[in-house]
Amino acid sequence: MVADGFNPGFSLPYTPEVKAKTEHLYPLVERLIPRLEWELHAPIIAAINDLKKEKDAVILAHNYMTPEIFACVGDYRGDSLMLAQEAARTDARIIVQAGVHFMAETSKILSPEKTVLIPDMEAGCSLATSITGADIRLLKEKYPGIPVVTYVNTTADVKAETDICCTSSNAVQVVEHITSQWGVDKVILIPDQYLAKNVAAQTDIKVITWAGACEVHERFTPEDIREIRAGNPGVIVLAHPECPPDVLEEADFAGSTSGMSNYVKDNQPKHVVLITECSMSDNVALENPDVNFIRPCNLCPHMKRITLAKILHSLQTMRHEVIVDEAIAEKARLAVQRMIDLPLTKGQSTYNQTGSPEVLAVESFAQIDPRSSLHG
Ligand code: SF4
Repeated sequence: MVADGFNPGFSLPYTPEVKAKTEHLYPLVERLIPRLEWELHAPIIAAINDLKKEKDAVILAHNYMTPEIFACVGDYRGDSLMLAQEAARTDARIIVQAGVHFMAETSKILSPEKTVLIPDMEAGCSLATSITGADIRLLKEKYPGIPVVTYVNTTADVKAETDICCTSSNAVQVVEHITSQWGVDKVILIPDQYLAKNVAAQTDIKVITWAGACEVHERFTPEDIREIRAGNPGVIVLAHPECPPDVLEEADFAGSTSGMSNYVKDNQPKHVVLITECSMSDNVALENPDVNFIRPCNLCPHMKRITLAKILHSLQTMRHEVIVDEAIAEKARLAVQRMIDLPLTKGQSTYNQTGSPEVLAVESFAQIDPRSSLHG
């Protein structure tokens, strides 16, 4: 059901025509979606895929989308960096962002001539709402001459105030690159305090951060991992760097969603658990049938606002168009483009690859309380 109460997929029947258009897609998800449920999804999937052709649209599907979206209507799939790059590259006239609002803004920033739609305007992010452009201006006053690196999980307004963006897959490399370019030994890395702590543990650069957090990843605890290990001997634990450092200390490998996905593909562990948003395991499992996934489930309520029905509604009505003020977009584009242009962004940051407890270099880390004097 979409926010205005209209559910376009509700009455679509599963006809022989729908079956002919979608049957080739079912093997992609059959291990996760029972046949009866598939027959509810298939008419919406067929309608979306028809409309994409008719309107010259593509769907960018984040790794946290549910499998019927990720595998059956997503044209490009991956993490926020990969999706931002695809948004810039695609020739399609319309981009539908199957992800959250800051991702759609990033697509619009990189592709101002394209129409960018988000199926639900309320699909936000606890990190993106934790900081504003005005906060960054205050940080720059407090720390003059220190470069500002902004995680892509931020609004256009925040990106516009910063020197370069990063993702969890390239944060360490971006921090080392910008500080070397500026000839300084400190960096402001905002807004995720946990990503910043985890980056600080991988570099000698002093990191100043903000007290933002991902509401999904900060819920994981070291006890969760110890319990999973106790119940599943031999399980390999992969964790996202938005998790607190004591969680990463317990993991065998820490990396971005792409990093985790590549780890599973390359190493084919017998049993694995991904300490991240729920749907990620489903999507990685689709491509790795011989791996057994243990699935602790922390859902992102913002990502889960995006459904097949809302995607169809979005394409039918061209709602909700994401608009970014051009003056802000121009400045934000520079910060995103600087990241994309770096050859190092093709690499991956990994965190405590060996599971070593050496995670947080406390003495090289200053955390700013957003409720301190900065907010006057
Ligand atoms: S999983 Fe966390 S970082 Fe990602 S959109 Fe949800 S709240 Fe934001």
